[in-house]
Amino acid sequence: MARELIKETALELAGTWVAVRLFRNNRARRVILRLDEGADGGTGVIVTLPNRASQKEGLALVLDKADWILNQLDERLPRVPFADGETVPFFGVDYRIRSIAGGRGVVRCEGAEILVAGRPEHLVRRVKDWFKLQAREQIAPRVRDKAQALDRRPGRITIRDTKSRWGSCSHDGNLSFCWRLVMAPEAVLDYVVAHEVAHLAELNHGPKFWHWVGELTADVAGAKKWLRLNGEALHRYG
Ligand SMILES: [Zn+2]
Repeated sequence: MARELIKETALELAGTWVAVRLFRNNRARRVILRLDEGADGGTGVIVTLPNRASQKEGLALVLDKADWILNQLDERLPRVPFADGETVPFFGVDYRIRSIAGGRGVVRCEGAEILVAGRPEHLVRRVKDWFKLQAREQIAPRVRDKAQALDRRPGRITIRDTKSRWGSCSHDGNLSFCWRLVMAPEAVLDYVVAHEVAHLAELNHGPKFWHWVGELTADVAGAKKWLRLNGEALHRYG
């Protein structure tokens, strides 16, 4: 076989996880790096290795070209504004934003659409406020339930637009979450809540901490992987 997939992995480049697929190609003359056009969400690269090159050399090239890769991936991910006709995810399912005439500034989900009433110039803010509200309504009760399971009292819950992290837990038990989590599949949001609530018991990432996370949510590994591969793409909406 001329071209064979030999490894699928992910590397962290300046805080962004990039999916890497390594191929062996006995006709290749040198190590070749290119963007993975098929990767979901556009955060992947393909490395082709000639017979004599090791996997390590391939991965080293990815790290070496980190700046170029991040630039390329950034340019490839189109921004999706909150606007009439655009498609945005809600709990991992695509919905189309539709501006409807009249009515007061109400936003509601109906079928596969997010209907936004009121003046079009307020649509962006309304959709964003709606997402933040959904985030709070989904996150707050989960925090309460999970904290109760750990016999801990959570402090204040803040919903914000954080670029660098999905959630955080302060020393005095205040929790903060990125509203964009409500665009991810439910299991992913649930994991992030479990992660931050587990910090109410353990302010580190030791074995005891991960034990509690595992007790509080269903699929830790799957959620972490989803965030690694797709998390960055949630920042292109709005
Ligand atoms: Zn943590």
